[in-house]
Amino acid sequence: MSTTEGHLIRQVVRERLAAGVLPPAGSRTYAGYGTGKVCCACDLKIGRDEVEFDVIGQDRSLTAHAHCYHIWWAESAKAAES
Ligand SMILES: [Zn+2]
Repeated sequence: MSTTEGHLIRQVVRERLAAGVLPPAGSRTYAGYGTGKVCCACDLKIGRDEVEFDVIGQDRSLTAHAHCYHIWWAESAKAAES
């Protein structure tokens, strides 16, 4: 992943958190290999050779790439501080 991509994902995640499209990342997660689901942060399919995180929320579960989940989690923590 390039720095530019990471920066873009961070921006999208921040906007989605602010708009309430994404809930704050939960800590109940299951990691596994991709099953063809779409990442909730970058909207790309998670391939079978990539690691996906299933994040269990209160009313739904969301799926993200491992690297997207880490950005989502970091941005959720920042949002909770401010
Ligand atoms: Zn992603």
